[in-house]
Amino acid sequence: MNPKKYPQKDHGIKRSNIDSDIDIVAETLIGNGYQAFLVGGCLRDMLLGKTPKDFDIVTEASPNEICSLFLNARIIGKRFKIVHVYVNEKKYFEVSTFRSDVKKHDKKKFKKVNGLIKRDNIYGTINQDAFRRDFTINSLYYDLDSEIIHDYVDGMKDIKNKKLKLIKKPSLSFQEDPVRMLRAIRFETKLGLKLTDDCRQTIKNMSHQINGISPYRLFDEVLKIMHSGHGVENYKKLREEKLFEHLFPFTHKILEDFSIYNDFFICALRNTDMRIKDGLHVNPSFIYAVFLWPYYKVLEDKYINNNSRSIDEVFRHIIESQSKYISIPDFFQNTIFSIWSLQSSFLNLSKRNIQYLTKLDKFRAAYDFFYIRSQINDDFKSYVDKWFEIQKNVKPVKNKNNR
Ligand code: ATP
Ligand code: MG
Repeated sequence: MNPKKYPQKDHGIKRSNIDSDIDIVAETLIGNGYQAFLVGGCLRDMLLGKTPKDFDIVTEASPNEICSLFLNARIIGKRFKIVHVYVNEKKYFEVSTFRSDVKKHDKKKFKKVNGLIKRDNIYGTINQDAFRRDFTINSLYYDLDSEIIHDYVDGMKDIKNKKLKLIKKPSLSFQEDPVRMLRAIRFETKLGLKLTDDCRQTIKNMSHQINGISPYRLFDEVLKIMHSGHGVENYKKLREEKLFEHLFPFTHKILEDFSIYNDFFICALRNTDMRIKDGLHVNPSFIYAVFLWPYYKVLEDKYINNNSRSIDEVFRHIIESQSKYISIPDFFQNTIFSIWSLQSSFLNLSKRNIQYLTKLDKFRAAYDFFYIRSQINDDFKSYVDKWFEIQKNVKPVKNKNNR
C-alpha cells in the first residue's frame, strides 16, 4: 500500500522545531543506508501545535544493527525491544525497529494470549508498522532525510478534524491491548480531540478487560493519566467509561455510598493539576494514597478503632487486595503508609507534636493530604489554618519530603 505523502510546504513542520541532537542519530542511520523517521507522539504534538516531550525514531535497522552503528547504545525492554541511543551522558533518543503484527507464527517473537498481545518483536516494513499502532494520529512518519510525512492511515485528516480514531476496529484493538482504552482517554483530554463514538461505546462494553493487563503496567498507566495535567477531567472520564471500577474496585464500591469521596478526589486532582501546571514535583504515592483513602477509612472504622486489627495489618490488607488490579511498588507503599498514619497527628496542635511532625521527611506530603481533606470537611478548618501558618516556616528535608 502506498502512503499519502505530505511535503514540508503542506505539513508546515520546521526543522528548527525538532531537537537538533536528533541530526547525529538520523545522519548515522541514513549514512549507513537505513531510513530514519520521526514517529508517534512527537510528530502528532508538533502537528497539533504543541511542544513534544521527546522525539522517537523508527527505522528498518534491527536493534542489533542500530547498536552496532553507535558507540553508546543499548537495547532495552523484552515485551517490546527498543534501543536507547545516547548523544551525551544524560540524553538519549529511543530508536525502534519497524514492527509487524501480521506474521504471527514466531512464538518467541510474537505472543498473543486470548487475543492479548504479550510479546511484540516481529520486525517488518514501514507499511506493516503503521497498521500495528493504536491511533491514526500516532501513526504518521516524518522522513528525517526528505522531510516528507508518510501517512498510511489517514492520520493527517484526523489531525485536521481533531478526531481520535483507532486504526483497527475498536473491539479488536482493545482486545489486543486494553491499555489503549486508557490511552484513548488520556489523548482525548491532553490533545483536545474527539474520540469516535464507536470507540467510546466499545470502551464501555470492554472496560472489564483492563484487568487482563499486568498490575505493574497499570501502575504506570494510571499515573500517566493522573499526572497528565488533566487529572480531574481524566478521572471523570474513567468513571463515565466504567474503567475506574475495574482499576479501584474497592474504592468504587465505597463511592457508591459515600459520594463525599468523589469531592475529595476532585479536590486532590485539581491540586495535582495545578502543581503540574506550575512545574512542581508530584509524588506517585500521593495519588494512590488519595484513591485508596476511602478503603482505608472504612477498614479503620471496622478494625482499627475497636483494636481488632493494627494499622499495619489493615494497611497490608489494602495493598494486597489492590495489588491484584494495580501493583504499587514497595518504595511508594512506605510513603502511602506514612501519609495515612500521620493524619490523626494533624489534630494535635501541642508544641511537642508540632516539633515532632515538622521534622519528619514525610511531613510535607502528609500536610498536603490533610489540607485536601480539610477542603471537604469543615471540622478540620481551624486545624488546617494553623498548620498552614506552621508549614510556611518548615524547610524541606533534602528532596525527600516533596510531593
Ligand atoms: P506520549 O505523549 O504520552 O508519549 P505517545 O503517543 O508518544 O504519547 P508512547 O507511549 O511514547 O506514546 O508511544 C509511542 C508510539 O508508539 C505511539 O505514538 C504509538 O504509535 C505507539 N504505541 C504506544 N503504545 C501503543 C499501544 N499500546 N498500542 C499500539 N501502539 C502503541
Ligand atoms: Mg512518546
